Amino acid sequence: MKFDAAILRDDTDRMAIEAVELANLRDEEVLVRVVACGICHSDIAIRDGKYPCERPLILGHEGSGIVERVGSAVTKVKAGDKVVLSFTFCGHCPSCDDNQPAYCHEFGPLNTSGRRADGSSALTLNGEPVGGHFFGQSSFSRYSVANVRNVVKVRADAPLEMLGPFGCGIQTGAGAVLNSLSAKPGDKIAIFGGGGVGLSAVMAAKLAGCSQILLSEPNAERRTLGLELGATDVIDPLSTPDLTAKLMEISNGGFDIIFDTSGIPAVVNDGFVALAPRGRLGIVAFKELDSAAIINLVSTISLGRSLHGICEGDAIPDEFIPFLVDRFMEGEFPADRLMKFYDFKDLNQALDDQDHGIVVKPVIRMS
Ligand SMILES: [Zn+2]
Ligand SMILES: [Zn+2]
Repeated sequence: MKFDAAILRDDTDRMAIEAVELANLRDEEVLVRVVACGICHSDIAIRDGKYPCERPLILGHEGSGIVERVGSAVTKVKAGDKVVLSFTFCGHCPSCDDNQPAYCHEFGPLNTSGRRADGSSALTLNGEPVGGHFFGQSSFSRYSVANVRNVVKVRADAPLEMLGPFGCGIQTGAGAVLNSLSAKPGDKIAIFGGGGVGLSAVMAAKLAGCSQILLSEPNAERRTLGLELGATDVIDPLSTPDLTAKLMEISNGGFDIIFDTSGIPAVVNDGFVALAPRGRLGIVAFKELDSAAIINLVSTISLGRSLHGICEGDAIPDEFIPFLVDRFMEGEFPADRLMKFYDFKDLNQALDDQDHGIVVKPVIRMS
């Protein structure tokens, strides 16, 4: 079986659509006809060579589609089912055994090597292996070879083309607020950065009943969108010389929760000291592999403040994605407001547009 996929080769940041061949589908794998795929920051970081990943490679890790066929050991889904593809995990390490797949001990190699655990790939390009398992899916492609663990069945009446981003960026932002940081009614929350993850966090904070939802974001259009999605206050950090003082003033004594999506160490530092007693700050982003923040020991101890590193919103995808899709279908979580659709042939443009902040969440439609 041959199909088109977007190939990233050495020494270029342009992807070319070429025909790949499905060499084999293992017993625990699922072949999915991709309907759409969102673009998430990790796609751009790998494209730009910020983290090593063997090429040629097919990126894309927010796929949604329809199951085409399944390996002999798969009973979870069947041909014709609508699915969202999420991150993958090993299923048998201490974190997986503890139902915390986002902290799978094999998360790095399984999701960012582009290969299966044993280093092989289901796909070949001109007879040579091509990385076809990025985040267990490589969905910038007409078909994706997923693993039974990272296919999430979704309700049949949901618009599939809008659901791919629920598999990573949306899950990360919403999960950080609802799962990792346990937002509850009446909490005051500040969210740093109004990209796809930050705005998903805004919608989740509204869903949780937070009484104050501040969005700090330099882009005026995104601040406006934040207000429409549930933010009660917005600030432009670039025109706020003393961020900590401003946060303390707006919250009248500190935030219960601060969620940083900027990855800027100075911003994390400023936020941490604007936490109320017992406040918690969640982080999901970094600019460099050696980025570091400063934590004052005295105030951390005496005020019981805490710092949470968060991967994939602490989500169990099989449970959390259907929950968010239900909220979306009921109009309580309007994630489509973040999206702009592109044709598959315009994939490079879509990545550039996200990289340059022109669009919050580009979604590639495969047909
Ligand atoms: Zn992602
Ligand atoms: Zn594991």
